[in-house]
Amino acid sequence: MLADKILNFIGGEYVATDKWFDNRTPISNAVIGQVAEAGKAEVDAAVAAARAALKGPWGTMPLARRVELLEALVAEINARFDEFLEAECADTGKPRSLASHIDIPRGAANFRVFADMIKNASTEFFEMATPDGSSCINYGYRRPVGVIGVICPWNLPLLLMTWKVGPALACGNTVVVKPSEETPRTAALLGEVMNKVGIPKGVYNVVHGFGPNSAGEFVTSHPDVDAITFTGETRTGEIINRAAAIGSRPVSLEMGGKNAAIVFADCDFDAAIEGTLRSAFANCGQVCLGTERVYVERPIFDSFVAAMKAGAEAMKIGVPDDAATDMGPLISKEHQEKVLSYCRLAVEEGATVVTGGGVPEMAGELKDGCWVQPTIWTGLPETARVIKEEIFGPCCHIAPFDTEAEVLEKANDNKYGLATAIWTRDVARANRVAQKMEVGISWVNSWFLRDLRTPFGGSKQSGIGREGGLHSLEFYTDLKNVCIKL
Ligand code: NAD
Repeated sequence: MLADKILNFIGGEYVATDKWFDNRTPISNAVIGQVAEAGKAEVDAAVAAARAALKGPWGTMPLARRVELLEALVAEINARFDEFLEAECADTGKPRSLASHIDIPRGAANFRVFADMIKNASTEFFEMATPDGSSCINYGYRRPVGVIGVICPWNLPLLLMTWKVGPALACGNTVVVKPSEETPRTAALLGEVMNKVGIPKGVYNVVHGFGPNSAGEFVTSHPDVDAITFTGETRTGEIINRAAAIGSRPVSLEMGGKNAAIVFADCDFDAAIEGTLRSAFANCGQVCLGTERVYVERPIFDSFVAAMKAGAEAMKIGVPDDAATDMGPLISKEHQEKVLSYCRLAVEEGATVVTGGGVPEMAGELKDGCWVQPTIWTGLPETARVIKEEIFGPCCHIAPFDTEAEVLEKANDNKYGLATAIWTRDVARANRVAQKMEVGISWVNSWFLRDLRTPFGGSKQSGIGREGGLHSLEFYTDLKNVCIKL
């Protein structure tokens, strides 16, 4: 049964406020709950609880016990898998088949990966001769950074939140999480799990609300928050970067993308089609790593466009519970309007609409949902706004290319630099192109194949810093050096 009142979680207690906002499901836009908006007082209380836990039971806990608790969290999330699934699907409308394979298992696995990582983390050691004929030894050791402000987006709510909270807690920090206002449920539910497994009160706090002049801004501008980690739009990241500058606090920014797929004529055609359909339309195109620009070598351009059109038109748009559903709705009416405005703009800019471009016909209460058809365009010039700007919907543009140099120039001609997918059987070429792409992550003959130990993050305006494996430990710990004269 879904809670219709979604509360803040502060110091191990659920906390209501006198200000509420609606929680809607995007499948019908119906209000399905009320969320307690945290004001300054609640954010102060959450930060104070996080500080107290850091100074108290969490800060003094032996690493082995902390690791046990993180492993217990994984087990408890898995034990309550269906509740997490229901909560995530209610907030996002995404297919259960997707959330049960990606969002919830990865949401849990993020704790295991970083529990393993911290158990095995090493630091540097150097011995140096000293002028007196003796020597000194240097060794590094890691301390938690402190209270971490965690600002999350709505597209993969549990997964992207625990991708930050997992390493933060593994490294001994405490957190104040501000989930997206669109998707508050799983972050709130995780509080129950924290209490059940015995994570000390105040280690994990959740404050609900919006960005400016609301919980987001109150967390990021709070002087007792020691570091901020953010995933969301580049525009918001810039505001958060400015907030973090006050007090010179470390900040990690995972931001927008306008990712290219590069498809060479020698690729495994079916694999390239399957991968590109997934990268353009999975999660209704609301994946930061998703493909919005597809460049296809001319000899296979027409057949590629035809196969993409057939694939897009075969996709079943529907509700989370229908096992046949391939694609759910966008997150909100506001986002639907944004994506549809790009559909109109594409036509104004001269695109040929290969398929989609509008709202699918849905029956009954679903009529009011935030649906958009899978959409493919061709024929736009590289200067078009639709080619340059992040849309974050189920849309892609497909363009032909003739040479490797030409496609590299086009694919890199963007302010974003998050990810790319390269499809070819020529390994030397794949390697060459991957190395020249101005992005943080390149996939060759795959997409979204994630080893959580690898560096994850964006180049250019897609981000600052890297998460994943040891890179997360770099952000969530303060590495110190001790020099001992022998
Ligand atoms: P958003 O920037 O609108 O919101 C993200 C979070 O920031 C929300 O919790 C929001 O309330 C908060 N926020 C907004 N303004 C704020 C402010 N002034 N101060 C503090 N907090 C503020 O992003 P979104 O629409 O939720 O997510 C979609 C975006 O996220 C897309 O651009 C997508 O590419 C990006 N994204 C990036 C990655 C990545 O790893 N690089 C992953 C997922 C999503």
